Amino acid sequence: MPKVSEVFASISGEGLTQGYQTVFVRFIGCNLHCSWCDTNYARQGGEEKEVSELIEKILAQEPIRHVYFTGGEPLLQHQAIEDIVDILKPLGYEFTVKTNGSVQVSPLMSVRPSVGFAVDVKMPSSGMESEMCYENYMVLRKTDELLYACADKVDWDFAINHFRFIQSRYGCLAQPCFSPVWGSKEDKPPVGQTWWQEMADLFMKQGPCNGKYSLQLHKCIYGVNKRGV
Ligand code: SF4
Repeated sequence: MPKVSEVFASISGEGLTQGYQTVFVRFIGCNLHCSWCDTNYARQGGEEKEVSELIEKILAQEPIRHVYFTGGEPLLQHQAIEDIVDILKPLGYEFTVKTNGSVQVSPLMSVRPSVGFAVDVKMPSSGMESEMCYENYMVLRKTDELLYACADKVDWDFAINHFRFIQSRYGCLAQPCFSPVWGSKEDKPPVGQTWWQEMADLFMKQGPCNGKYSLQLHKCIYGVNKRGV
């Protein structure tokens, strides 16, 4: 049975789905240890749930038809995702999987091609940048996205060089979305507006024209470190 932390409805906060009404399914368990992890509570604990129970919780949020699988690392429990998609896809649901970038997306993509992928690219500030699965960049599609969360200029330089590299080396088609980490090293909480503006300027000067800059909307609305939003 899948281990899950929570199922809740909220506004999608980042990336290509930003602003959409969304049901989030947060799986428990992660294979990485990011230095600034904002979902430590999804790394362990949680409860085992039947897939049927998860589907009931998703259906209870009707008429929302977008489901976002997150974590932790949801691809560690991809069988549950396949089962949920099989039941809800015929009812008109759309799906996005947010993965931490260290696990292959192709096993799920090949059997459930309608699922979209939002792939985190870990930056130097996370301490996990060497853990990325580069095979993913060969298979991601135009409808998939790369999430670059940057805490400072070092991260930004890494992000922009990384995106250029995977485009030229692997022909990566996914759309890049760049956002500042909240309460980053250069800007202490409660807000990091100086870095937000600096990063926006960098994005205008150096960002790819198929890229997107965004603040994490759910944190703007509900604040940092709030669960279930
Ligand atoms: S991948 Fe996500 S859940 Fe895992 S340690 Fe990093 S931020 Fe936390």
